Amino acid sequence: MSDPAIVVGSGPNGLAAAITLAEAGRDVTVLEAAGRAGGAVATEELTLPGFQNDTYSAVYPAAAASPVFARWPLEDHGLRWVHPRHCYAHPLPDGSAVALSRDVGETAASLDAVAPGDGAAWTAFVQPYLDHFGAWRDTLIGGFPPVAGATKLLAALRPAGMLEWARLLLMPADALASQLFSGGGSKAWLYGAAMHGDVPPHGAGSAIAAAHLGVMGHAVGWPSPEGGAGRLAAALVGHLESLGGVVRTNAPVTAIRTERGRVTGVQVAGSDVAPASVVVADVTPHALLELTGAALGDRYASRLRRYRYGPSTLKVDWALDGPIPWTAPAAREAGTVHVGGDEQEVLASLAPIPHGLPDKPFMLLGQQTVADPTRAPEGKHTAWAYTHGPQDADWEGERDAHVERMERRIETFAPGFRDRILARHVLGPADLEARNANLVGGDVGSGSYMLDQMVFRPVTTLTPYRTPVRGLYLGSAATFPGGSVQGAPGHAAARMALAETRVRRLTTPPWRR
Ligand SMILES: Cc1cc2nc3c(=O)[nH]c(=O)nc-3n(C[C@H](O)[C@H](O)[C@H](O)COP(=O)(O)OP(=O)(O)OC[C@H]3O[C@@H](n4cnc5c(N)ncnc54)[C@H](O)[C@@H]3O)c2cc1C
Repeated sequence: MSDPAIVVGSGPNGLAAAITLAEAGRDVTVLEAAGRAGGAVATEELTLPGFQNDTYSAVYPAAAASPVFARWPLEDHGLRWVHPRHCYAHPLPDGSAVALSRDVGETAASLDAVAPGDGAAWTAFVQPYLDHFGAWRDTLIGGFPPVAGATKLLAALRPAGMLEWARLLLMPADALASQLFSGGGSKAWLYGAAMHGDVPPHGAGSAIAAAHLGVMGHAVGWPSPEGGAGRLAAALVGHLESLGGVVRTNAPVTAIRTERGRVTGVQVAGSDVAPASVVVADVTPHALLELTGAALGDRYASRLRRYRYGPSTLKVDWALDGPIPWTAPAAREAGTVHVGGDEQEVLASLAPIPHGLPDKPFMLLGQQTVADPTRAPEGKHTAWAYTHGPQDADWEGERDAHVERMERRIETFAPGFRDRILARHVLGPADLEARNANLVGGDVGSGSYMLDQMVFRPVTTLTPYRTPVRGLYLGSAATFPGGSVQGAPGHAAARMALAETRVRRLTTPPWRR
């Protein structure tokens, strides 16, 4: 074993960093503020006994595609992916729905049913990326700068295709929708995928967000762990422990200690300083500032201070007496349902209004029990939905009214839904942040994805994981490639820590290390 390394925070990125350090033989401890490991990957009986609700994240295309997780034997630690028949469905006001399925042909047929020809356009768009999915994945789910992936992509797509791809990176989803589709329902279907991020369909960068989810859906599906999201966290912890790593819960780090520009350890609330020559922080940029203070230097600190967060989130979990009675058959077999209505309704849900929250909120809804009955008592179901809104909306005052709006909206596409509710559990923006400090104001993305922060996270640099303090690295979703559960930021931060430690060992005489 070597000098101790510490990871602050046990989200998927913290755990990925810790596993990477442990694999290299480092003596690693993860310090987690909450009472359980996993960050925004957790399953709890939030509603009723026997109903396993995923408290935060639930659907994992990026985890299934992750080149980082693919290296590790997570199945040996209890992870089993379950795939719903459709990745997502987007119900339309006429009672039909457009669905993204793993099979491109099935997806094309669903689009063609809305507007003949839209299916062929989607197939022609998506197929070249699927043919070179390894290069696509390595570019969008890897460390920064994504040189190796982009080089592979260039070789695969040739310069003309690569220029199209570069254009896609900058494009708004509404421009991509107009390029591909004639049907309003097909466009709404694409916008729904774009709205997993915080860039609206008319914003630059929203097209790649939608395309990425579509491409991953065809390549690896949108699976969830059997039994609940918590099984993924447990598998990561299990693998870490098998490598000798340790996770300490209820251990909030209150300060990162430094001396003469290098990290020396961390202060845990109510404990001694834990010494470390390497610290990887799975925290937000503002938390890093607070924990480390002046040692980060004025220039870096002022750049971190400019980092912006995304919209707030209100999430509802339900225990249900039966499956959601969607009018559209495809929605009954989808793991995720985008509740937003037609093209105009989806766009209208984003329009600014006085109290900040729309009467017909756009929602991402998950119904994992459709494919995984182990999560609820026989015949019963779980479901969740969340919706975004501005950080400065009156979330506390509007809370009950907004839950009512959400349920009413679901009822429009699934008459009888409300009669199936046995219990509900609501998490507002403040509740989310109180449970996990990385969810600032209920931002699920660990920072906005507006164009300037999509690629350069958290600051404009080629080395986003390194801080000015020697031995201190940032490895949360606030670094490239950002949010979603795939471990790439944490893994990249740990790799940088290992590489720099190696270089220092080679270039520094032992008495000066
Ligand atoms: C409601 C919701 C739904 C989502 N849905 C999906 C989804 O379906 N699919 C998907 O791929 N992604 C989803 N995401 C996003 C995904 O969960 C995050 O991008 C991912 O968890 C980020 O990982 P992380 O390790 O960077 O941070 P987190 O998972 O947020 O973990 C950070 C951890 O650090 C701990 N911590 C912070 N400060 C300290 C401190 N000072 N001391 C000790 N510990 C500390 C926190 O307690 C927390 O456990 C969702 C997120 C939310 C909130």
